[in-house]
Amino acid sequence: MNLILFGPPAAGKGTQAKRLVEEKGMVQLSTGDMLRAAIASGSELGLKVKDVLARGDLVTDEIVIALIEDRLDEAEAAGGAIFDGFPRTVAQAEALDAMLAKRGKQIDAVVRLKVDDAALLERVAKRYAEQGRPDDNPESFVVRLEAYNHNTAPLLPYYEKQGKLTQADGMGSIESVAKAIDEALA
Ligand code: AMP
Repeated sequence: MNLILFGPPAAGKGTQAKRLVEEKGMVQLSTGDMLRAAIASGSELGLKVKDVLARGDLVTDEIVIALIEDRLDEAEAAGGAIFDGFPRTVAQAEALDAMLAKRGKQIDAVVRLKVDDAALLERVAKRYAEQGRPDDNPESFVVRLEAYNHNTAPLLPYYEKQGKLTQADGMGSIESVAKAIDEALA
């Protein structure tokens, strides 16, 4: 099973992906986590993307597609991937479909977590206070939301046309969102 958790930043994708990893043994592929690890390690890639992440802009399609491609064998061996924060553009979605097709695989389900903007702003202000993630500051968060609305939301019709999109109310508790995702996957 290959699943995409879809939604704006701070919608709860990471939290739900981690739960699914524990319950189903799938691999979480979070391009945001991979990029933050590259920055923390001080690698060439990390140096290249550090300012882009801090601003809240998207890194290039080429960079994230390569990061995902490197992990697909591992995900396949584990029985599937939960894509978290990828794809974020139509070009990334097309590349993902092509990479999976080459392996005789496909995306099986896309679950969209719906959370309204006011709740996102509230959540991210709390996360910023607790964790101090640089791109959770209010200015960068506005840029991230704009990137979502401009570049990523157009993926909804892309997956709807493929008959793979289901919607889950992301406004409730972690448990109620988990239940909605599980129902969507059943
Ligand atoms: P996230 O942890 O998913 O919110 O990602 C944090 C940041 O990493 C984003 O704001 C982007 O700067 C970058 N990023 C993560 N995934 C992608 C992606 N699929 N395409 C472009 N940029 C990405």
